[in-house]
Amino acid sequence: MERVEAVVVGTGVVGLAVARRLALAGLETIVLEKEAAIGTETSSRNSEVIHAGIYYAEGSLKARCCIAGKWWLYRYCERKGVPYRRCGKLIVATSEAQNAELERIKANAAALGMPDLELWPAARAIALEPALRCTAALWSPTTGIVDSHALMLAYQGDAEDRGAMIAFRAPLERARLREDGIELEVGGPEPMRLLARYLVNSAGLHAPALARRIEGLDPARVPQGWLCKGNYYTLSGRSPFSRLIYPVPEQAGLGVHVTIDLAGQCRFGPDVEWIETIDYDVDPKRAELFYAEVRKYWPDLADGALQPGYAGIRPKLVPKGAPAADFLVQGPDEHGVPGLVNLFGIESPGLTASWPLAELVAAKLGLPELPAEEALL
Ligand SMILES: Cc1cc2nc3c(=O)[nH]c(=O)nc-3n(C[C@H](O)[C@H](O)[C@H](O)COP(=O)(O)OP(=O)(O)OC[C@H]3O[C@@H](n4cnc5c(N)ncnc54)[C@H](O)[C@@H]3O)c2cc1C
Repeated sequence: MERVEAVVVGTGVVGLAVARRLALAGLETIVLEKEAAIGTETSSRNSEVIHAGIYYAEGSLKARCCIAGKWWLYRYCERKGVPYRRCGKLIVATSEAQNAELERIKANAAALGMPDLELWPAARAIALEPALRCTAALWSPTTGIVDSHALMLAYQGDAEDRGAMIAFRAPLERARLREDGIELEVGGPEPMRLLARYLVNSAGLHAPALARRIEGLDPARVPQGWLCKGNYYTLSGRSPFSRLIYPVPEQAGLGVHVTIDLAGQCRFGPDVEWIETIDYDVDPKRAELFYAEVRKYWPDLADGALQPGYAGIRPKLVPKGAPAADFLVQGPDEHGVPGLVNLFGIESPGLTASWPLAELVAAKLGLPELPAEEALL
């Protein structure tokens, strides 16, 4: 059986950030990916927004990792030539009753250390985005967009430059805790057995199920996962907006918002659809809901203008109706197994938070901190 220092499961944006971090620490690192390419699941099915970190609870991992992650991502993208744009975002109230909610969001952001949000009267927001209709708006200057695939390629390139290897079509089937490490059974066309000192489970939607296949890990430590789909619809032609437009948040997501991409196209989404099994089809019938939601802030949306786009699935740790859960990153201090880190519930803002999440994994494995310049390469 081959011995290896570190194995990371998953080549989503978080798995690749972790692989990069472990390789930078000098560990011989293998990344296992069940698919034939990087980032084919949640990391390529999202809004590609660099979130400012406005909405999360004070002291939560989501807040800490998002705010720090934004800082790192802008610097890293600049240095690596990853396309991004700090376009800013308007959170819009569409009724007088929602204006108070903007005040509450602004106060939450200030408590998190972001005093830069500005409450604007409707006229100022409409002067900036003439297609918009609202009763008031909150301007977030540090929100942006990023080419998520280019970001993943940059993480992958850094990891490989430092000796990490990615094995594609290599699903981790199960693992077993031993005195001398963690034994891994890898399936796919070229099955293999590995003995790893460190194992990082960054399997996204599959992380809880995979953790349950680690023999010796207390199953009581593994949370139940729920699936919450977010559908997107695209608009043909150029975007009527140059900035991100978000409604006041609702239920399990941030509301059907306008996401622009770096090519100037726009899409609307994601909505909230709780599902039982993974399924990425976008039902054309859901368009009706989108017309109603989008017209609250863009009344000129023409009939028939929206086309089914794509869908992503949020790996939830709570069922429909429950208050949002935080990211759950469990290391030896939490589950008692040396060398193992499980990442659960890495939903939004996981893309923005990818860098600090990788730092957190390194810390849980007892690896030394890297000075900023060394970390950025
Ligand atoms: C609708 C939606 C919108 C979002 N918008 C944003 C946003 O605008 N900004 C933001 O910051 N975040 C956003 N997010 C969150 C962000 O996309 C995720 O947090 C992030 O992509 C998670 O990355 P990951 O690496 O944890 O998981 P994934 O990208 O899902 O990667 C997991 C990988 O593990 C592999 N895998 C699974 N099981 C195994 C196994 N047994 N063996 C080998 N490989 C395995 C999978 O094939 C996959 O490649 C959004 C999420 C959703 C659903």
